[in-house]
Amino acid sequence: MSLTQYTHDPRDREFMQLAIEKANESIPVEKAYCVGAVLVQNGQQLTSGFSREIPGNTHAEECALLKLKDIEEAKGGTMYTTMEPCSTRLSGNRPCTDRLIEAQIARVVMGVREPPNLVQCTGLQQLRDSGIEVFVVPDVEDACFAPNQHIIKH
Ligand SMILES: [Zn+2]
Repeated sequence: MSLTQYTHDPRDREFMQLAIEKANESIPVEKAYCVGAVLVQNGQQLTSGFSREIPGNTHAEECALLKLKDIEEAKGGTMYTTMEPCSTRLSGNRPCTDRLIEAQIARVVMGVREPPNLVQCTGLQQLRDSGIEVFVVPDVEDACFAPNQHIIKH
């Protein structure tokens, strides 16, 4: 079975659109993607984040979780992210995949798989192995890759 399972739920597409808007707030730097993330609980946006929003080479999902008053709020929620959560970080910081598993996120909806430009990402597989539902929103590749032209060569 292919790793990629698509969601055709229009609500998933709406929240992905919000995550894409967050990704476009990220300031590009060499060797790091511009990603946006939105955490949803019971159909409501709880928090959001984008790459490097918080100082310290932070990632979008990491920022969204750090902005919660209590990490318990994330339990059972859905994390929308424009790119597959990282499983390895060149900086040595804790990968977002680990953070999402620890926060007991129930569902991850991503825009694109991480291309193998910087590291080989196994986030999707690890999330699924941990019992988290993982879906990809179809037809948002261009929007998710748009803020990443500094890394992805066509
Ligand atoms: Zn990450």
